[in-house]
Amino acid sequence: MKGNLGFRVIFSVIFLAVFGVYSMKHFSSGWFSEDVASWGPAGGLKPEEVQSIDMSQDVAAAQEQQPEPEEPSPEPTEEPANGLPQVDLTSWELMLVNTENTLDESYEPPEIVKLSDSQCPVDSRIADALTAFAEAAQAEGLPVYLSSGYRPYSEQQYLYQRKIGQGYSAEEAAKIVAVPGTSEHQTGLCCDITDYYREMKDSSLEDTATYQWMKEHCQEYGFIVRYPNDKQDITKIIYEPWHFRYVGVEAATYIMENNLCLEEFLALYEQA
Ligand SMILES: [Zn+2]
Repeated sequence: MKGNLGFRVIFSVIFLAVFGVYSMKHFSSGWFSEDVASWGPAGGLKPEEVQSIDMSQDVAAAQEQQPEPEEPSPEPTEEPANGLPQVDLTSWELMLVNTENTLDESYEPPEIVKLSDSQCPVDSRIADALTAFAEAAQAEGLPVYLSSGYRPYSEQQYLYQRKIGQGYSAEEAAKIVAVPGTSEHQTGLCCDITDYYREMKDSSLEDTATYQWMKEHCQEYGFIVRYPNDKQDITKIIYEPWHFRYVGVEAATYIMENNLCLEEFLALYEQA
């Protein structure tokens, strides 16, 4: 029995010793980590590191889940190799009307609207852009006046015949008033914009602050100066700093930045 007792005592001592060592290790590691956690800056870093890893993983996961919406966005700004904007040449926005591209007597815009603050009728498809353009100018303190928009064939015929009646030759009259069917006003896609206090339509309009601002900013609203001073040989129309034509923002930006008239712009696509 004594032998057994001795064995039990020895076994108990060994057991307690093993348990004691295990307990010390276990609890000391617990204290250690708690101390670190409460040691100010050093302890404060750890939760942030964990958080930042979690966040970057979320972002990475989100990027993996949505690769498709990211890729199509560069496409609209993608340009052909020749640097021309990608535009639809058959779109109403780029309708070309001049002495060689005439409109039928029966052509009229699909829908005509009169802008709220004026009696100026235009193709409804440019109404918002023209309103925004005019309001932006007004916001600059400029007295813009929408003088003339859509003009039906019959009215153009009257204006042309009146010039002939004033003694102009057909050739001279055609330079001042478009021959019926050749006027862009029949499209409803343009507007004569003058200074409210200088309604006269002549080249002196370019000296007004109104014109200077409109020439500078028209392309932002999709408009161009349709009949520039140095393009009269191509357009066959005198310099008209009041005549703004809607062609869409992309085409307008290219045309104004490269000092082109609409005929030149469209010709670039024929060469391409
Ligand atoms: Zn005009």
